[in-house]
Formats: sequence, C-alpha cells, structure tokens
Amino acid sequence: NTAMSNTPVRSPQAVLKQVFGYKDFRDGQEAIIAAALDGQDSLVLLPTGGGKSLCYQVPALILDGVTVVISPLISLMQDQVAQLRALGVQAAYINNSLPFEEQQAVYQQLHYGQIKLLYVAPEKVLQHEFLERLSHLKLALFAIDEAHCVSHWGHDFRPHYCRLNELKQRFMHVPMMALTATADKATRYDIIEQLQLNHPYVHTGSFDRPNIRYTIEEKFKPMVQLLRYLKEQQNQSGIIYCTSRKRVDDVAEKLADAGFNAAAYHAGMSNEQRQFVQSGFARDDIQIVVATVAFGMGINKPNVRFVVHYDIPKSIEAYYQETGRAGRDGLAAEAIMYFDPADIGRVRRFFEDIEDEQRRRVEEQRFNAMASFAEAQTCRRQILLNYFSEYKRETCGNCDICLNPPTSFDGTLVAQQALSCVYRAEQRFGIGYIVELLRGANTSRIRDNNHHQLSTYGIGKEHSVEFWLSILRQLIHQGLLSQDITQGSSLRLTEAARAVLKSEYALQLAEPRLQAKHVYQDKLA
Ligand code: ADP
Ligand code: ZN
Repeated sequence: NTAMSNTPVRSPQAVLKQVFGYKDFRDGQEAIIAAALDGQDSLVLLPTGGGKSLCYQVPALILDGVTVVISPLISLMQDQVAQLRALGVQAAYINNSLPFEEQQAVYQQLHYGQIKLLYVAPEKVLQHEFLERLSHLKLALFAIDEAHCVSHWGHDFRPHYCRLNELKQRFMHVPMMALTATADKATRYDIIEQLQLNHPYVHTGSFDRPNIRYTIEEKFKPMVQLLRYLKEQQNQSGIIYCTSRKRVDDVAEKLADAGFNAAAYHAGMSNEQRQFVQSGFARDDIQIVVATVAFGMGINKPNVRFVVHYDIPKSIEAYYQETGRAGRDGLAAEAIMYFDPADIGRVRRFFEDIEDEQRRRVEEQRFNAMASFAEAQTCRRQILLNYFSEYKRETCGNCDICLNPPTSFDGTLVAQQALSCVYRAEQRFGIGYIVELLRGANTSRIRDNNHHQLSTYGIGKEHSVEFWLSILRQLIHQGLLSQDITQGSSLRLTEAARAVLKSEYALQLAEPRLQAKHVYQDKLA
C-alpha cells in the first residue's frame, strides 16, 4: 500500500487520457464512473462495443485497493489482462486452469498491493479459500461482466452467477457494478434481484447500432441465397447462425465445398476444436464461422462485416445480440435473416416440450415478439429499438424496408390461379407441390398423379418459384388457405377463399421481394 500512498489521486479525465489515451468519455461513462467512486452500486446497460470495460477500469485505477472483475470466459480475461498490461496497468487473472505456481505468484502480488485489476472466473471467486483471501485485502469494487448470465431466460445462463450475491453479503461495503449488453426488461430486473444490488445507479445507453443494416429476406432456397450473398462479400469476415448443430455442420461443409474459408462452431465440438475456430477467426485465418448460439460471448472481433441468420432466432434479444457482433469497429456492416413463415410453426412446436409451464410461456412470448418482427413490414430498426423501450419516431433509412419499401398490387388473379390449383389437386398437397403444378413442372410425381391433365397445370408458368412461394405464404397468412399439419402440411381452402374465387373484391397482396431473382431463378426452376 505504500506504493500508492504517495501518488496523488487522479481524476477520471486524467486516467482516461494518460492511461488509455482517449480524449473524451463516451455517453454515460463519466456518470457511471462517478457512481463507482462514490461507492454506489450500479447497473450498466450498454450495447456491444459501447465501452463497458472502461466503466470499471477507470475507477479501479483511482480507488484504493483491488478491483475484482468477474468474467465468464477465460479467453476474454486473458485478452483484457494482456491489453491492460500493455498499457502499463497492474492487472492479472486467476482461474482454475492456471498452474498452481502462477496462482501463488498472483496471490503474492495481491498481498503486496501490486494488482489493481484482478479478473476471476465466477466459480473461482465463490470458493471458500478464495473468499478468505479476499477478506484480507483492501477491495475497491466488484465488476460483474456479462451480468445477464444470472438470468435463467437467456441461453447464457451460468449457475455460478446466481450465487454472486454471496459477495454482496460478505463484502457489504464494496460497491458492485453489473454490466451487460442485454437490454430487455426481464433480464434487467433479474440482475438487480439476483445480485442484490443496493439502490443501483442504472445507466441505459442507446441500443441503436446505426452502422448495421438490417435485412430480412424471404427464405426460398437458403443455401443458394447464402452462396449468392457470400460471393458478393469479397473475403470479408462474417458469422452465419443456424439453429441446430446438424445444420451448422451441413452449411459449413457446403460452404467449404464451394471454396469458402469457413468453419463450424457448436457445443458438440471439443474444447480444442472450438478454441481453434475462435482464435482462427480472431486472427482472420478463418473468414466465415457457421455456428449455433454457442458462438457468442467473447467474440471481440471488431471487423465482422456480416451476420447471417439462416434460421429465425428464438427471441429479439438473441437476434439483437447476435447481429450486434457485426460492425463493432463502427464501419458499415450487415445483418441478414432468411425467413420462412413456416418456421414459426416449427419453432412453436419445439416449445411444447418445455415442461416448466412458466418458462414455456415466457419462451413463447419472447418468440412471438420475434415472429412479429420478422413478419412486419415497417422499419426494422424502429421495431427493435421500441422493443428495448427506446422510442424512435423517425424511420432509419438503413434497413431493407426503408431502402426498398414494400409495394402492393391487385393480387386477385394470381390468388385465383393458386386457389384453383389447390382445389383441383383435391386439397391433398403442400406448398412445394402446388408451386410445381402452377409452373407446369415436369416431375414424375405430377405424372403419377395424372396432374399434368389438370386445367390449372402450368397456368402460372410466367412467374418464378419464389414468386409463387411468396404468394401462397401470403394466402395462408391472410386466411384464404390453411395448412393441415397432420396431412403432410397439405393446403386447404378456407371459407374466405370463396369470395376471392368469385372476384367479389380486389385482393391486395404484397409484391414479392425477390432480391437478385435473375441470379438464381434458373437454378431453382
Ligand atoms: P463493450 O465491452 O461494451 O463491448 P469495450 O469496453 O470492449 O466495449 O469497448 C469497445 C471499444 O471502444 C474498445 O476498443 C475501447 O477501447 C473503446 N473505447 C471505450 N471507451 C472509449 C472512449 N471514451 N473513447 C474512445 N474509445 C473508447
Ligand atoms: Zn429502417
């Protein structure tokens, strides 16, 4: 402690400049730091790349004693400690994978007051022996990074995080700062409750990521759509999220076959394999990672240029977190999602297996919000920000809807063609087959059914496969067709279809949004 006593207390501004080399604080940082210096608990909600680390690093360098940072990922700790040391800051980390001698060396330094920032894994910090050691030290602050891990609702849940309130009970007078990039209200509430934050100062930053362009594309043949997109990306870095491990392996393999520098990442792989992919991606040795949600926290890569959702995510939080990994450097980046309305039903069926009733209901509600986001035809960013209670009046000008507003047309004729086709085929067939009939495809299935003799066979051949898929989906959506899941998803006319067939009114449909249709129409036909 003698080392510190002669140094005059520095101001946050001076530390920012002298240690980190930055001129100004970002939105919110100054007040958060002031709260910590005042000994107040705080909850910091800032988007990815918003500058959370500085919020506890600056107080750590001003306050007397050691700041303990709890972080869920070893790789994250190592990175941060290395960066701090490069700036001349006395920082160290401790976790159970560190050799015994090295742990001892850190304890020595702690004892002599030679460490200002100590990064620890949650399971380590809760060990009796470790708590004992802490009680002999002068503690400045606890910083709980990725604090949303306390929440049962997200997929990042860590049981040890729930026990971190033991720190609060044991070291009542040490302020605690909880930090996260997850913005939804249930999670905020969970964090304050679980960590028992005492009248915390809460800072909610803007969650807008203006440099990310949001696009939701109707899903037709996603692999073809993906390949077309990637070919335009010229070796930029990106992540492709899929919902299942099997799909991840499958997509990664196809991309590799197509000559892309792509690797798979999911929880079914060994630690070494995953580590290899993550660090290869960080070093730009791997251009594209195809991953499940397991690829998440700890991706600090600034130059991720695109994030593609091959399937619809389970919640807006997940979508926001995952797309938020793009463009951390502030340069233009893209978030693309392939959306097939039929996936909504598929995901919903998956929730039926959740036994805990309350949990099932929460999951369903969160997914409903995601589904209506995907189906909406208004500015994507507005919906996202409103969801996080950040009301925004203006449309953004940087999403597919703003850049290419949807248009509608009188769809009576095409609807009649589609509906009659369903009717002539005796309401026994699914979407794909009806599209083939409409386009007059020459398949053995059609010939076996003698359907090439139908009067409606080929009545819509001037339109593409995607056009008809989009129209049929809209007819389902508008309640003119229903889909019988028990009968191989066969389409049936509803009562409401009658009025359209009789031309009783003009049916408005959205012009199908077929990006770059000329590029891949041929391959699909
Ligand atoms: P988060 O943890 O919120 O995702 P980081 O703490 O990693 O974000 O910060 C993101 C980047 O912004 C880092 O490179 C950091 O050094 C930089 N940064 C943070 N605060 C400032 C500031 N006041 N001025 C300039 N750069 C900053
Ligand atoms: Zn917009």
